[in-house]
This record gives sequence, C-alpha cells and structure tokens, in this order.
Amino acid sequence: MDLEYGPQYDDFRAEVVSFIKENEKTKLTGPPRSESRVEWQQKLIDNGYFARSIPKEYGGYGGDMDIIKLRIIAEEFAKSPIPKPAGGQGIQMLVPTLLSLGTEEQKQEYIKPTLRGEILWCQGYSEPNSGSDLASLQTKAELDGDEWVINGQKIWTSTAHLSQMCFILVRTEPDAPKHQGISYLLMPMDAEGIDRRPIKQMTGDSDFNELFLTDVRIPAKNIVGARGEGWKVANATLGHERGSLADPNVTQNRLNSLIDLMKNETIDGQRVIDKPIFRDRLLSIQGRLMAQQSNALRILSSQINKEQDANLAKVIVKLQGTELRHELEGLAIDAMGELGTLYEDSPHLRDNGAWQMTYMYYLGLIIGGGTNQIQKNIISERALGMPKEPKIQGA
Ligand SMILES: Cc1cc2nc3c(=O)[nH]c(=O)nc-3n(C[C@H](O)[C@H](O)[C@H](O)COP(=O)(O)OP(=O)(O)OC[C@H]3O[C@@H](n4cnc5c(N)ncnc54)[C@H](O)[C@@H]3O)c2cc1C
Repeated sequence: MDLEYGPQYDDFRAEVVSFIKENEKTKLTGPPRSESRVEWQQKLIDNGYFARSIPKEYGGYGGDMDIIKLRIIAEEFAKSPIPKPAGGQGIQMLVPTLLSLGTEEQKQEYIKPTLRGEILWCQGYSEPNSGSDLASLQTKAELDGDEWVINGQKIWTSTAHLSQMCFILVRTEPDAPKHQGISYLLMPMDAEGIDRRPIKQMTGDSDFNELFLTDVRIPAKNIVGARGEGWKVANATLGHERGSLADPNVTQNRLNSLIDLMKNETIDGQRVIDKPIFRDRLLSIQGRLMAQQSNALRILSSQINKEQDANLAKVIVKLQGTELRHELEGLAIDAMGELGTLYEDSPHLRDNGAWQMTYMYYLGLIIGGGTNQIQKNIISERALGMPKEPKIQGA
C-alpha cells in the first residue's frame, strides 16, 4: 500500500518547512488575547497555515479544502518548536458548528474574532446531575419578549474565568421528551446574573469552574439552530471536540522525546531503554501509535472520498488517543524513577515537570468530552451494531 501523499505535494511541504524555519524562534508573550498572540494568529491565517479553508469573509484564509495540505501543515508544525495556532473550545468546536449551523449574522459576528483569539469561549454543557446523561440537563431558558432568561447551574466549565462567551445548552421545552426540549444558546459572559466559581483541582490549579445562572438575560437571536433542536447542534460540536483531542502527530513527537529520555536515564548503570520490562512497554505504545496513525489516514481518505462518515473513526481517536497519551506520559514518569514523583518547584525536575503535568492532563481528557466508557458505548452500538443499553423507565 502506498501511503505517500504524492509528488504534487512536495513543493507545498517545502513551503511549509521554509515558513517554519523563518519563524521558529517566535516567542509569544502575555496572557491569552494579548497583542503578540493575536498578531501571530493573524500571521498564520494570512499565510494559510491556520483557518485555511474558512472563507475570507469570515476571517479565514479562504483556501481550497485540500485535506492533504492540512495534514502536511499539521505534521510539520508538530515537529517544530514554533508556536502552534491557538486552539480552545471556540476555535475547535464552536467555529465549525457555526459554519454549518449558524445564521449569517452569527458567522459574521463571531468567527473572525474567535479565529484571531480575541474572543475566548467556554462550553456550558455539564451540570451536577447531567454529565454522561447530558440530555437530562435542567438549566432552563424562557423567552421573555426578545430575550432568553436563563436560570440554573453548570459545572466543570473549563476556562470560564478567561472567556468572553459561552455556548450553553438549556431546556426550553420542559414538556417535550428530553432530547427534543433542548436549545443551544450563545451567552456573553459579562451578562448580569452569572456567578463563576473556580474549582480547585488536585494539581493546585483551577482550570474549570461552576457557573450559577440567575435570571441571565441574553438576546433571543443568540440561538444556534431551531428552538428545541439544540441536541443536534450539541452533537455537531461534540464531534469536533472528539476529533481534536489526541492528534497522533503530536503523540509521535512525544514518543520521540520519551525515547530520548529513556536513553538518558539509567537504573543500576544500565540505560532504561535497554531494560526489557521498559522496552516492552515502549514497543507496545509504539505499535498502538502506528495503528492510530493508520486510523488518521483512514479519516483522511474517508473525508477526501466522502464515501464514509468519519465521525466514528473520530470517536476512536478520542478513546484510544487519550488513553495512549496517558500511558506514554506514565512510562516517562516510571523511567525517571524517584525523580518522576517530583512536582512543580523541585530543582531536580526533568523538563520542568512536563511529563507529570501532561500525565494528569490526559487523565482529565479521558473523562472530558464524554468519558471513554461512553465512547465505547457509542462504538459498540453505532459501529458494531450491538444491542442498545436498556433505557431506564421515565428517564
Ligand atoms: C478535564 C475536563 C474538562 C471538562 N470540561 C468541560 C467543559 O468545558 N464543559 C462542560 O460542560 N463539561 C466539561 N467537563 C465535564 C465532562 O464532560 C464530564 O465530566 C463527563 O461528561 C462525565 O460526566 P460526569 O463527570 O457527571 O460523570 P458521570 O456521568 O456521573 O459518570 C461517572 C462514571 O460512570 C460512568 N458511566 C456513566 N454512564 C455510563 C454508561 N451509560 N455506561 C457506562 N459507564 C457509564 C462514566 O464513564 C464515569 O466513569 C470536563 C471534564 C473534565 C475531566
């Protein structure tokens, strides 16, 4: 099987490599939305290395939808220390949702500043009693004249403390069956009645929040899709999230760093990489990564040929990719021996503690975006045709 992209892409790859060489030393300073970050984001757009296929009128590069070129850009950027394009829930999840389901006014208003990193978004889906069973959510919105009035509580809202906007799921038709009573709204985070409370994590950081919403008023036009059809919109957004959670190109770089680390660390004078027990674990990770790279090519070809729906292959990316990264980072921690147990401010830390931090981060991603048990349910029911889970009466 020939897995090369073909000689017609060689010039394009050379262009990307040359841009990366010229800009590799770029350093971004300041918090999200700072001038240098917005400028860098715009430079990437102007050169077609970010938002490549998004139309110019919405702030994108306006290029053709050549998926192989997108793949080449991702591969080359992943290999280099060059600052990557900003990501986040607005760019990865909301923009593609608005492009397919938003009104023209919403596209004009939100896509460009989101791509430039001027508006950050958070995702208001989960509630204290609605996580895996998201459709049971209870936060409600009622139409009062030309405004929605929102009341309820959200939880685990990542980056709500940094965000200007939130895409939020609310119940607008309380009498409809649970999947049909939901709407998808765009809520400005400076609206009155929003109380954000940070959740302290075991790492000591607070990356997510609780949101308490009391009579929050937002314009009626801030609805995406039809009233009561928010479940469809929410799932479109989740599909984009799952596909973006564990890029095998990035994992390949991480594997290369792990191999370097295992060559440098020693136990009783022997390199860790030469110890059979560590070597076995490394090879198992390498084999599974190769399978994921093949799955990435499968997604690529089904997108190009438009023969198959790539959504289930993206569920596999989320399921396998997050677990593999967690295991890979865990192997590095074990390879460092007692240094692997250090955290944060120790002078003996390797790589500023990146292995430990990423290990914890990927544990979170195994749960976030829908837990991996739920991904297995989706694969077994929708791809393998296994029987559906029994429904609880009245739920
Ligand atoms: C790092 C991180 C970031 C997050 N960011 C956001 C965010 O920005 N916005 C947002 O809205 N939410 C966010 N979440 C919340 C996330 O979506 C939920 O945690 C997730 O959907 C699981 O819901 P839950 O925590 O209520 O667990 P539960 O649904 O209570 O699940 C508990 C356990 O039961 C298992 N389980 C439940 N139902 C089934 C079933 N039918 N079959 C088999 N097993 C089952 C689950 O797999 C899990 O192990 C984030 C979570 C994490 C960890």
